[in-house]
Amino acid sequence: MRLRTVVVTVGLLAPLALFSQSQSSRPRVLMIGVNGMEWDILRPLLLQGKLPNLAKIIQNGTYGKLQTVSAPNCPRVYSTLFTSTRPEEHGITGFLIGGVTANTHMLKEEPFWSILSKKGVTVGMANVPATFPVMPVNGYMVSGMLTRGKNCEDGVMCAPKLSEVEGGDAVYPKSLQPELMSKVGDFYIDCERMPGADELAGHETEVIHKWLSKVQVIRDQQTQLFDYLLKTHPTDFTWMVQSCEDRTGHWLYPIAPFNSGYNAKISTVEPNAFPNQYVALDKVLGSILQHVDGNTYVFIVSDHGIKPLREFEDTDPHAHMDHEKTTPVIAKHDFADGDEVPGSFIAMGPGIKRDQRLMGLAASVYDIAPTVLHLYGIEPPKQMRGRVLDEIFVEREHKSGQQ
Ligand SMILES: [Zn+2]
Repeated sequence: MRLRTVVVTVGLLAPLALFSQSQSSRPRVLMIGVNGMEWDILRPLLLQGKLPNLAKIIQNGTYGKLQTVSAPNCPRVYSTLFTSTRPEEHGITGFLIGGVTANTHMLKEEPFWSILSKKGVTVGMANVPATFPVMPVNGYMVSGMLTRGKNCEDGVMCAPKLSEVEGGDAVYPKSLQPELMSKVGDFYIDCERMPGADELAGHETEVIHKWLSKVQVIRDQQTQLFDYLLKTHPTDFTWMVQSCEDRTGHWLYPIAPFNSGYNAKISTVEPNAFPNQYVALDKVLGSILQHVDGNTYVFIVSDHGIKPLREFEDTDPHAHMDHEKTTPVIAKHDFADGDEVPGSFIAMGPGIKRDQRLMGLAASVYDIAPTVLHLYGIEPPKQMRGRVLDEIFVEREHKSGQQ
């Protein structure tokens, strides 16, 4: 019933007419990636009613933790999501590989969007990490984290604008780039780089506020981009990713004075900065849900969670890996000791169980690609290590969700 409520709401809006003309009879899958989505932070916000759109998806779907790979970071996990193979197999083991920023030329296994494209499924992707330079698809692709450009030469954790991209294409097909420049504007492709310790020293409050307002600018641009693409370039499979949540959590996680890395000058300025990222994300979800109809699956997939630093971090030689650079980091996900940082998974759509919680870590990042392929009736290729998440569907014997 609740799903119907969403549909009715959406049905009142004019843009939906665009879809009914251009959509095939295939199911639509709208996958929303949120980097470092952390249930510990989401739960109190959900209880306070501050995430109405996320709550709606959870109540109408199946939700839980998503087991990730060891020492997870975005390129490492995203490439596993792409291929359902181990990092050592797909080749993207981290941000840097042999000193070079991870890029799509290094991807050694076939991503599932290529398989979808070959089978005639239309694919649209925007701001998905580790997709630079973009690869051809049966649709469009706008790259995300690890895009290189002016003032962001190595592409690691910085934010080039579309016009500033260097060293490869950030948009496929090429003709889409001028269109986006004119219709959406010159947007930032990735989230803002975290400030360094030197930059912060003595200017903490000012730097934090400036950084957070830039993050909001970037999120607003992304919302506009997603809205434009969903409205004017609808595809069967669509994947859009936000990465500012994780970035904020790394250095502004709400921690107590006894936590490792606590610095009153930073930690007391905006203690709600990280939770507020999810409140802002919820608004983005609201905008995206305008494009959801009764034939659409909504998947929210997070590559990993994020937790405050634990004991011994200051002396651990693996404590601060390539992710954080010089930022005073107080939370992370690539704990060298295998500490628990699972991601999250929420699915809603035709034939998906409602208000069902997945217990334990039964679902993993390896399972996303096979499950998406399955929805389109495509057998996952042999190299894929994951499985179809049968338990999220009302009937195990479902075929493609088109009924
Ligand atoms: Zn991170």
